[in-house]
Amino acid sequence: MSGIRPTGYLHLGNYFGALRNYVRMQDEYDCYFMVADLHSLTTHPDTKELRNHVRHVMAENIACGLDPDRVALYCQSHVPETAELYLFLNMMAYMGELEKTTTFKEKARQQPENINAGLLTYPVLQAADIVLHRATLVPVGKDQEQHLEMARNFVKRFNHRYGEVFPEPRAFNYGEELVKVPSLDGAGKMSKSENQFATLYLTDDDDTIRSKIKKAKTDSGPTEPSQPKPDYISGLFGLMKLVSAEDTIRKFEEDYDRCVIRYGDMKKQLGEDMVRFIAPIREKTEAITHDEKYLKEVMEKGASKARSSAQGTMRLVKEAIGLNYF
Ligand code: ADP
Repeated sequence: MSGIRPTGYLHLGNYFGALRNYVRMQDEYDCYFMVADLHSLTTHPDTKELRNHVRHVMAENIACGLDPDRVALYCQSHVPETAELYLFLNMMAYMGELEKTTTFKEKARQQPENINAGLLTYPVLQAADIVLHRATLVPVGKDQEQHLEMARNFVKRFNHRYGEVFPEPRAFNYGEELVKVPSLDGAGKMSKSENQFATLYLTDDDDTIRSKIKKAKTDSGPTEPSQPKPDYISGLFGLMKLVSAEDTIRKFEEDYDRCVIRYGDMKKQLGEDMVRFIAPIREKTEAITHDEKYLKEVMEKGASKARSSAQGTMRLVKEAIGLNYF
C-alpha cells in the first residue's frame, strides 16, 4: 500500500522513490495505491487546483505502468473508512512524539500561519491509510522512513491494548536502499511543491528538461585524482545512474577520477538520456487525462475495491475495541 499527494504534478523523485516499485509490486502482491487528496489539505488548503491535480496524478500513475485492473488504484477521500480508522489511531499517538516528527517541524517552519492539527497528526492519517488494508509492505522513498516507524508504534499499541488486528507495516524497496532523488541545485530532494526549477517533472517538455539540467549546479572540476565529490556533483551522477547506460556512467566516473571531466558534456548527455526517459511517460499521461470517461471508471472501480477491503478491516477493529453492543 502506498500513496502520493496531489499537491502538484509528479517528478522524478516520485517515480524512482515510489512508482517504480509500485509497478514491480503489482505482479507479485495484492496492491492498494491511492492519490492522497486528504493529506494535501494539511498543507494546501486552497483547492482551486485540486481537481486538476487529482486527475493528473491518477493519470501519471497509470502512465508509469500501473494497471487499474490488477491493483486497487483509488482516491483517498473516496474511502471514508480512512477517516474512521484515523480517529481510533489518534488515541494511540502521543503529542510528544507527533511534535518531534521531522516532517512536522519542517512544515511548521514553512507555514507558521497554519500549523493545524491535521499537520501534527499527518503520520496518524498515513498509518490509517496503510493499516486500513492490513498492509505490510509500503513502497516509499527515504523521506518516509520515520513515518513508517511511527505507524509501527501505533499498530503495536493498538494490538497490545485490543488484541492482534494489524500486521506491522514497513518501508519496502526490493532489497536495495531507500531512494532519495536529489534536486538539481544540490539542496535537498526533488519535491512537488518546492524548488520547481531544480525538480524534473514527468510532464516537463524536452527543452525544459534540457535547460533545467544545463543549469544544474557544478564547479570548475576536481583538482586531485579520485577526490570525493561534493553533494551537487554526486547528485548529478546519481541522476545519471537512474537513466543513463552503464558505459556512459563509467566514462564520466573515469573522467572525474582523472580530473578531465567536462561538466558541460556530462549535462548534455544526461539531458538527452533524461528526455528519452521522460517523453513517453509525458505523452501517455496527456492521452489519459483527456479521456475523462476512462478516468472516472478507474476511480470508481478503485474506490469499490478499496472500500470492500476497508470495511472488512473496520469490522475487526470495532470488534476488537468492543464497539459491538448487541
Ligand atoms: P512530495 O515530497 O513531492 O510532495 P509526496 O510527499 O507526495 O511527494 O511523496 C510521494 C512519494 O514519493 C513518497 O513515497 C516519497 O517517499 C516519494 N518521494 C518524494 N520525493 C522524493 C525524492 N526526491 N526522492 C525519492 N523519493 C521521493
